[in-house]
Parts: sequence; C-alpha cells; structure tokens
Amino acid sequence: VLAPYRGCQELLEACSSLASRGAAVEEIGRTERGRPLLAVRVSPRPPESGEASTAVLSGIHPLEWIGVEAHLALLERLLAEPPGREVLCIPLVNPDGIARVEEHRRAGRRRFVRHNARGVDLNRNFPTAWGERALVARLVPWVYRAGTGPASEPEIRSVVTRLAGCRIDRALSLHSFGGAVLFPFAHRLRSSPRAAEHRAWARALARRAGGYRPVQCSRWVPGATAGGLELDWFHEAHGALSLLVECARGRLRFARARDLFDPFHWFNPVDPAPVAARVADAVLPFVRGEDLPK
Ligand SMILES: [Zn+2]
Repeated sequence: VLAPYRGCQELLEACSSLASRGAAVEEIGRTERGRPLLAVRVSPRPPESGEASTAVLSGIHPLEWIGVEAHLALLERLLAEPPGREVLCIPLVNPDGIARVEEHRRAGRRRFVRHNARGVDLNRNFPTAWGERALVARLVPWVYRAGTGPASEPEIRSVVTRLAGCRIDRALSLHSFGGAVLFPFAHRLRSSPRAAEHRAWARALARRAGGYRPVQCSRWVPGATAGGLELDWFHEAHGALSLLVECARGRLRFARARDLFDPFHWFNPVDPAPVAARVADAVLPFVRGEDLPK
C-alpha cells in the first residue's frame, strides 16, 4: 500500500541501521505516543566543543514523506564521503504524525494531517517569534495551532534541548511541496540582516535542484507570515545560515485520477527516488559546510 514510500517503523529502522555504517544514532527524546526521536550524527571524528555543525530536519509535517526520503538520500551521500564537520540529522521530527498518515493510507482514507498527536503544528512551535501569525493563519486557526507556549511539544522540546549546546552555523529543513528554497524571515516581511548571503545560497540550491524558486519565506505565500518556524529559530537563536526546501515542484502528476483528491499525492511525487536524489545532490555542498558553488 505504501510502496514506493516507507512507513514510520521502516523509516525509524532505516535511521537506526545507519549506526552500522559509521553514524552515531541517539535517542534525543520521545513523542507524545512514546515513539523515539532519533538523531543521526555524521562526524569525521568525535566533535570538539565549539566546533561549527550543520543541523538537518525533516518529517515535521506528517504528509511530507518526500522530505524524509530526501533526507535519507542525503545521509547516504554523507556516509559515502564523510564531511569535514559534524552534521546532525533528525529525519523524523514528527513520527506520531507520520504514523497517523500511514494508518490512513493503509485504511484507504484520504485525510489532511498537519499536527502531532496533541493537535499542534510543530512548525509553529519553535521558540522564535512564537505565536505571531498573520492574516491567513487567523482565518484558519485550527490548521496552524502553535501549542500552549514556545517548545511546548515534546518533539520540539527534544530538538531544541539537543541542539542547545551546539554551534549550528548551517541549518536545513526539508518539507514539501512547491519546488522552493525558502530563507528567513518567515515571521516578518522585512529582509534579514544576512539576506544577501541567504539569497545567494538559496539561488544555488534552487538551480541545482532543477528549477526551484528561491524566495524569502514570508513573501512566498502572500499574507502567510508566521512565527514559530524552525527557519527563523535557527537563524535567530543559533545565528545560522538557515534554509527550508519545499521538495517537488508543484507540477502535480497523479498515477490515478482519484489520487487528485488525496492530500498525500499533493505533497509527494509518484516516484520519490529521482526527486530525493536530486534534492540530496542539490543541498550537499551547503550541508557539508563548503563554499558557495559557482
Ligand atoms: Zn511542511
């Protein structure tokens, strides 16, 4: 039913199995439903304190399975040729949500799922500009529920706590869909002080991904400025160069006509492998801490 995609348990096992290939796999916390939150660390050697690291997140929004597949493809590349810096990857930030989508798919139900098990949009729960919302979010408050406070959710608390002592100077989050490379700010319309550097990187990734669009997050969808995103949290709390890739260009193709009404197929391409490979290749220099590609 799920193929060519993988379900929650299979994805968690894929993460765990990377320990046998030289990655350090740690449980950084548990979800509301008791599922493990796994961090996969690729490092050339035991990291020294104060050394700069890259952080990569995916699987924040339950329907966006292609982001997780792209993340695992990226990990394959990092393990094949280890980076000169620590790369800390959390491929499934919302395993409860992904498992919920999986249940729906196995039962043949076409449902829109955006939250964790407590009904919170985890990408509104990060501590930067938490609770700020613009017009669109006020019109549909049940879609973008931000939680009861900054990092109120176990998943985000675990991520924030794990990364607290790290010096993250590059951060990437993989979502879908729309074929865009987004950069800060998400919570305000004005440009970030490091907009030029962000725009240059976003352009490079967008080109390498194959016709993606580089754009400041708050200007992507008019009226959709929002606080509590990982994008701004990495930028403001860590001072990182922070990018968010919306995998898969919006040119929707469906294997069957009835898939048109299935939200899963809006967010995920029919065949994940080529899209995952292309995104992984596109983001690799950024993640490895290399200079801006020509
Ligand atoms: Zn998303």
